[in-house]
Amino acid sequence: MSAAPLLSDQRNRHLRVLRLSLTARCNLACPYCCPDLQDPPGLLSLDQQLRLIRVAARLGAKTLRLTGGEPLLSDRLLPLLQAVAVGRATPGDPLQGLQQVAVTSNGVLLNAERARDLRAAGLDRITLSLDAVDGAQAARMAGLQGGAVSGDRLVQQVLAALDAARSNGFDPSIGAVKLNAVIQRGNNDDQLIPLATLARREGVELRLIEYMDVGNRNGWEMDQVLTAAEIVERIHQCWPLQPEGRAVGGTARRWRYTDGGGSIGVIASISAPFCGDCNRLRVTADGRAYTCLFAAEGTDLTPALHCDALLEQLIRDLWIRRRDRYSEERGATSIASPHAEMAYLGG
Ligand code: SAM
Ligand code: SF4
Repeated sequence: MSAAPLLSDQRNRHLRVLRLSLTARCNLACPYCCPDLQDPPGLLSLDQQLRLIRVAARLGAKTLRLTGGEPLLSDRLLPLLQAVAVGRATPGDPLQGLQQVAVTSNGVLLNAERARDLRAAGLDRITLSLDAVDGAQAARMAGLQGGAVSGDRLVQQVLAALDAARSNGFDPSIGAVKLNAVIQRGNNDDQLIPLATLARREGVELRLIEYMDVGNRNGWEMDQVLTAAEIVERIHQCWPLQPEGRAVGGTARRWRYTDGGGSIGVIASISAPFCGDCNRLRVTADGRAYTCLFAAEGTDLTPALHCDALLEQLIRDLWIRRRDRYSEERGATSIASPHAEMAYLGG
């Protein structure tokens, strides 16, 4: 398979990122996400995942992000990375078009051995998630029983995961390891400065995500959103920031500390949506494709997952028809329609 002609949707957006969920299950239960306890039936096989990634790469995807649920719970993660790495190193393979392979994880299972294996299997980047430094808050944000004790343990696990990643070749100074935090007004917004302090001390970029109305279970209300502007202002009061902008097709608007303390990214999908250049195709662990995080319905890819040509045609047709810009329309429409759940879609 050689590269296909550039694929454009109805708003002239190109497919550049494939986000593939490996499982809908999770070992945490963040109330803003509300993962399932079980996977849906019919998880994709390794061959199906590989075919999908190869076809997406042929259609223009440059980044593969493996997510979940918690992707480190999946026994497919390592073999999939290894198979992708073989393709990336094989002349003429469309997987050579992949410039970056990344994972998003809550870090609980990322010890030194797993970090080493992931690196050896060709993983380029890893983003870890942590929503609070204070133990009681961390437990609440992760849906853990046991209050401050279990929350403190989680914070230590994520710090250990950061260390494990760093000491196994994921260099935070080039963004190979980052830290995600969801900020909810009136819930963990007092953790903003402690999280920024921690990220500065650890030398990792902190990516602050506005609380989003994904799924139907988290009871999202607009007044629980701490906007990107407020997030930036609060941090700027402590450490002055200068804007670095948002890369085309990127999700985070980046800001640099003027004192040399690194940078932060702010993902403003509620207050400053970036649908205009959204380049992401999301595929669930059971093979449903979504072109928007807020979509109600996905497209079942499984009938085409045995054949490159059929799959390519299906994804091509799906992308060419694509018009979605939910986040930009949020203010104008009622949000009554059901959306797919976050842990199913993979963020
Ligand atoms: N379990 C992994 C983790 O937590 O990093 C990967 C999957 S998780 C769905 C991916 C990202 O989505 C995480 O950084 C999480 O904080 C974020 N997320 C989940 N629900 C969200 C929501 N309602 N609003 C904003 N971000 C959310
Ligand atoms: Fe699990 Fe990630 Fe969802 Fe938290 S955000 S429940 S860690 S999938």
